[in-house]
Amino acid sequence: MREIGHFIDGQNVAGTSGRTSDVYNPATGEVQARVALATADELQAAVDSALAAQPKWAATNPQRRARVFMRFVDLLNQHMDELATLLSSEHGKTFDDAKGDVIRGLEVCEFVIGIPHLSKSEFTEGAGPGIDMYSLRQPVGVGAGITPFNFPAMIPMWMFAPAIASGNAFILKPSERDPSVPIRLAELMIEAGLPKGVLNVVNGDKSAVDDILVHPDISAVSFVGSTPIARYVYATAAANGKRVQTFGGAKNHMIIMPDADLDQTVNALMGAGYGAAGERCMAVSVAVPVGEETAERLIEKLVPKVESLRIGPYTDDKADMGPLVTKEAKARVTGLIGKGVEEGAKLLVDGRNFKLQGYEDGFFVGGCLFDHVTEDMEIYKTEIFGPVLSVVRAKNYEEALSLPMKHEYGNGVSIYTRDGDAARDFASRINIGMVGINVPIPVPLAYHSFGGWKASSFGDLNQYGTDSIKFWTRTKTVTSRWPSGIKDEAEFAMPTMK
Ligand code: NAD
Repeated sequence: MREIGHFIDGQNVAGTSGRTSDVYNPATGEVQARVALATADELQAAVDSALAAQPKWAATNPQRRARVFMRFVDLLNQHMDELATLLSSEHGKTFDDAKGDVIRGLEVCEFVIGIPHLSKSEFTEGAGPGIDMYSLRQPVGVGAGITPFNFPAMIPMWMFAPAIASGNAFILKPSERDPSVPIRLAELMIEAGLPKGVLNVVNGDKSAVDDILVHPDISAVSFVGSTPIARYVYATAAANGKRVQTFGGAKNHMIIMPDADLDQTVNALMGAGYGAAGERCMAVSVAVPVGEETAERLIEKLVPKVESLRIGPYTDDKADMGPLVTKEAKARVTGLIGKGVEEGAKLLVDGRNFKLQGYEDGFFVGGCLFDHVTEDMEIYKTEIFGPVLSVVRAKNYEEALSLPMKHEYGNGVSIYTRDGDAARDFASRINIGMVGINVPIPVPLAYHSFGGWKASSFGDLNQYGTDSIKFWTRTKTVTSRWPSGIKDEAEFAMPTMK
């Protein structure tokens, strides 16, 4: 059995705790590897390595830091197929989707190649007689990132790229479900010229996370995962004096206006609802047709498409989606579908008994479609994180708008319409962090930034974009005075600009 350890001080090291977690091939249901779960001593070894490497890395001029990322981007392109295969084999998503996972992270690495420009700061000449004032953006020191299973390439890169480009050392605690790609990324960073110790990967579970949250030498923590853990990490890291940002779960709605192009809308819904088997924080899980006629037309077009979804292992290059990540995830999703039926929602397409020949033990769930879902139902309130789309019918635009507005989560939302007035009103009034207008999964590009509102995010700076440079640096403001020729007298009142 393949054993996956940690990546500390520039090399792979075996775990020593004796505690491991199984890593599955979700398509076959087989355990294909065991990942070590770190002890506090192993985390300490990573912190020691990071502390030793960080000052020299921070003193490396930003162009040289950028060049490491230039080479890393080249390496990611060279190793794209290898990375995507590794990723699919542990996550279950299709090969093309896995490439998208790597590419969305790669784009953040391209963005941070601009670090010489991004880290320039402010300067005021002549703020007073002989006085100049300027601000420096300096690295926080050692940062840590805790990442979810569903994007094992992209989300680690969202975090470590801006952190490291800004002169920090970084400790990544990836998901124990699919830990191989994060380790491979760290190896490629070393190959790209990153000094050892600047990026360490410590595998583990809650215990490793808890050790990170109280470690006195870790200054900032970024987290992406489910909302209950995001709340916990936010509160615990803050109570331990750390800078912290955490991103949680979602329930993303798509509002479908009567004037929307329905063929375009249905295609968008299929990709956004069932791509990656719904295991995306930006998946659309609620469709809100406005008016009964729109609802009827939508359902008529959706049902055959959901029924004919092609489901397969990542080796099937024609598959639309793969299995769920674990047996537990499958049990949770099918349990929620059962709850929806009990609560009275109409299950138009039931994928619970889907079986794939030759892959009977895989964690597959077929596409499911619910109609007549209402706000009080569990399947509406809870993030299902599976291939399940719920249709909630709204009488008019105001009622449709009120649904995502009232929902606990606020990650993404979209509207499909040809009416510019409606689209503009929607973008302006909605209380959600990322909005699509005729775009189903409005994940911003690397030079904007990613973040939800409400229970989808805690903390005030987003992932990537210029926000990330702010998160991974702190401001120092210098006031300097060269008073040649100026006569000084003691001043006892608060100095002001009189
Ligand atoms: P998760 O919360 O179970 O795990 C996330 C990380 O937290 C993992 O590294 C895990 O080891 C760790 N962890 C798990 N339980 C913990 C505990 N009790 N204490 C401390 N740490 C713990 O999430 P997941 O199942 O890996 O990922 C899916 C979730 O992530 C979904 O809710 C999805 O919406 C969310 N997500 C959000 C975004 C976003 O940007 N908002 C992006 C991707 C995924």
